[in-house]
Amino acid sequence: MKLSKLASEIAESPTFALNEEARLLRERGEAVINLGIGEPKNKTPIAAILASAARLTSGEVKYTPPDGLPSMKKAVIRYTEENYDRLVAPENVSITNGAKQSLFNILYSILNPQDEVIIIAPYWVSYTEMIKMCMGIPVVVTPEDGTFTPRFEDIERVVTSSTRAIIVNSPNNPSGAVYPPELIEKIVAMCEKKGIVMICDDIYHKLTFDRNVAVPAYRFTKKDIENSNIVVVNGVAKLYGMTGFRIGWVIAPRDLTRIMTNVLGQTTSCVSPIAQAAAEGALNGLQSVVEALRLQIQNNRDVVMQEMRTFNGVRLIEPKGTFYALPDIRAFSNNSVEVSRFLLKKAMVVVVPGKEFGMEGHIRLSFAGSVKDVTEGIARIKWALDPTSPNEIYIGDKKMIRDWM
Ligand code: PMP
Repeated sequence: MKLSKLASEIAESPTFALNEEARLLRERGEAVINLGIGEPKNKTPIAAILASAARLTSGEVKYTPPDGLPSMKKAVIRYTEENYDRLVAPENVSITNGAKQSLFNILYSILNPQDEVIIIAPYWVSYTEMIKMCMGIPVVVTPEDGTFTPRFEDIERVVTSSTRAIIVNSPNNPSGAVYPPELIEKIVAMCEKKGIVMICDDIYHKLTFDRNVAVPAYRFTKKDIENSNIVVVNGVAKLYGMTGFRIGWVIAPRDLTRIMTNVLGQTTSCVSPIAQAAAEGALNGLQSVVEALRLQIQNNRDVVMQEMRTFNGVRLIEPKGTFYALPDIRAFSNNSVEVSRFLLKKAMVVVVPGKEFGMEGHIRLSFAGSVKDVTEGIARIKWALDPTSPNEIYIGDKKMIRDWM
């Protein structure tokens, strides 16, 4: 069959592909540890379960407005006021099928062919592909070697008359970096001066560790929401561990929200009311679930740091947020795809090659799972790569001997 050139060039989502590979290996009885996918292992918060169950048992499961149920929007408005200190109107809110659809709808609604969108490496894998799907051009800014935070001057340098937007993801997937407030402030000022849309992918905004905070971009503008260049994306996937409910949202000026609503209305029509009810339950329910998750993940981060300290040759910048670490493995190889394949084959550990995130020579480890998985996963990686580590290890109930160095 003759296929679309544009669609054929879109890469497969590497995290989903690896997840599937891990599932198949596990089905074959292999003791796979999945440090690939970014997904907390908590159960759905009870408030979300009850709210969605109530909706389901009411039997009222029909189309909903394409921009979202009024009650869900109300929950988002309250969330925005509490967490961003911004009072927005229902016309500024659109509810989407996951933050992924939020990002796609924004890009589709603001880009003309050949418009440029600045993204900061390491970046989330889907940004480049979504920009290309919307006929835009991704322009990557890479921080200085050994850092995960870009210099403002390097961002400013790539701005052209075709720059339409910049995507800022802090806390950052895959590095765990939290950008300093001064950088956010400068980006806001630049976007306002040059009429660039600042897309804040805030999906991890409360998952920060120690005293780090992800400062909202809104703090640095005096403009009201209708005149602001700031567009905020959020959702329940990461903070509430509700990845499967597929609920995200966008806070944007009315004119952009209107276009995005038309895009959604003509594609997926609306978001399932059962999923919206669940998200509403989570947002209106006890917020201690988010703090409990954050503490558990911070503890996992500490375990990662402790285990990595004895990993000769590997350098790791401590993650300040999210549930990802991006160690530099160039002491072993510059080819992160090969290393990831090797780790899966020899050590039965799934990691994601840094190349996918625009950061070759690194691998991404997700520490969203159990402490046991994190500890054992890193021990296996050490065993596979580090010649100074003990050369015997148990993988499941099989004793394995390292015989390749
Ligand atoms: N942005 C980033 C940076 C992410 O890591 C993810 C999920 N991995 C998303 C957006 C998409 O979130 P959702 O599951 O709500 O579509």
